[in-house]
Amino acid sequence: MKKTLYLKFIIAYIIFGVFAFFLIGLLVPMIAQDTLKKERAEDLYTEAVLIADTYASGLYTNDTSLGAVKNQLDVLSVFINATIRVINPSGRVVLSSDTPLDVDNVEIIENFDPTAAGTSYYMIDDFYGYYNTDVLTVYAPITATYKVRGYVVINSSMAQIAQASEKYLSIAYITLLIAFLLSLIVLIFFTELVYSPLKKITYATEQYASGNMHYEFQVESNDEMGYLAAALGYMASEIARAEDDQKKFVANVSHDFRSPLTSIRGYLEAMIDGTIPPEMHEKYLTIVLNETERLTKLTNSLLTLNNLNTKGLMLNRTNFDINAVIRNVAATFEGTCKNKKLAIELILTGEELYVNADMEKIQQVLYNLTDNAIKFSHHDSLIKIETTEKKNKVFVSVKDYGIGIPKEDQKYVFDRFYKSDASRGKDKKGTGLGLSITKEIIHSHEEHIDVISTEGVGTEFVFSLALADEKEQKVIE
Ligand code: ATP
Ligand code: MG
Repeated sequence: MKKTLYLKFIIAYIIFGVFAFFLIGLLVPMIAQDTLKKERAEDLYTEAVLIADTYASGLYTNDTSLGAVKNQLDVLSVFINATIRVINPSGRVVLSSDTPLDVDNVEIIENFDPTAAGTSYYMIDDFYGYYNTDVLTVYAPITATYKVRGYVVINSSMAQIAQASEKYLSIAYITLLIAFLLSLIVLIFFTELVYSPLKKITYATEQYASGNMHYEFQVESNDEMGYLAAALGYMASEIARAEDDQKKFVANVSHDFRSPLTSIRGYLEAMIDGTIPPEMHEKYLTIVLNETERLTKLTNSLLTLNNLNTKGLMLNRTNFDINAVIRNVAATFEGTCKNKKLAIELILTGEELYVNADMEKIQQVLYNLTDNAIKFSHHDSLIKIETTEKKNKVFVSVKDYGIGIPKEDQKYVFDRFYKSDASRGKDKKGTGLGLSITKEIIHSHEEHIDVISTEGVGTEFVFSLALADEKEQKVIE
């Protein structure tokens, strides 16, 4: 493919050249001959009229002698490079610059008829059979005492015109050749601006197609080519990143599945071979049960994430009261809070606060955030859930006074499987997927979620939601 584009361009270029030469060879002689003919005819006609009005009319008024006029016409004929004749309307040649004066041998032009030219002041023919080839002929009537006495007839050879037209053709060919050579610059531009970058891009695509996603290349131009190359490079780097993420993800999943499975297997084997005495079975079976619970949670979280990814933006948006949802979520955690002696304080804006979002998914977000807040809080502390309304947005904040997240860890908390070292001891069941699911949900709503946290002081997660349209709210109410 690489070579053919260049070849095609060259072929197109050659076709263009051949056509141009062909066309110029055809058109230039045609146009040049036509123009030259007209110009020559015009010049000769002016000359003929001049002769008819001056020297020739003298012949018929007997003012000048035949010899004197002949001399003048001979000079003129050399000057204008044509044959000048004075012919009577009957066809008798009175004078000719071609032949010497001979009164005895009168030359007659048979069928002489100057009116045959019609409206045109010149004719191209063999001049009543006088010449073997075509000549250009102009006629100018000689009038004396209000009568046409004769004609000044000038014959000019066509070879002269053909010669001049050939000269024009050569000039046209030379110009075309220069233009053609100059247009080779286009070829240089094509090579530099299109072909070379395209070759690089093609090579890069081949590399990517063969799986080398880390191949890097550069096209230094600000035009579409540069943009295409940059876009391609970006695409490849994104794919490479996605591949790396995928590998990491699989590694994490396998690890997270393997550790509970290993411990389950270990305890069960120990129970079977008697290492763990029967009276201790209950304790270790509870641990095994917890591990299976963790595996179930892990599987469910993975399924949720997968669904979010594949369904993308398929949200079931409705207008609902976020305050009511928050109250519900808080109520589900009542038991856990009692055990940990925690209190949940709700600071809600208005009695009802309608937002436009996917209610089930937002419920899950609130559940995940509250679950974290409780998990990472100390005993006897407070959790605040707050709603505020600002510029068509509702901000929901879940704040705790727990262990906090170290500054350097904050940017990773939304990553899949991320669990800070501090949290590992506190929460063995956590999968590290809760916040990545939360982020995925908020982003699919085209909204934002942020974390503000100080280690040892507490953590606050704030996310935004779209305020429901007032008119629509009324309908629902
Ligand atoms: P799961 O949500 O599946 O139970 P998890 O809670 O460990 O697991 P995430 O909810 O994704 O996973 O949280 C990731 C990590 O971020 C947690 O392990 C913890 O280290 C940190 N983190 C999240 N919320 C808080 C919080 N409120 N206070 C302190 N650390 C937090
Ligand atoms: Mg969590």
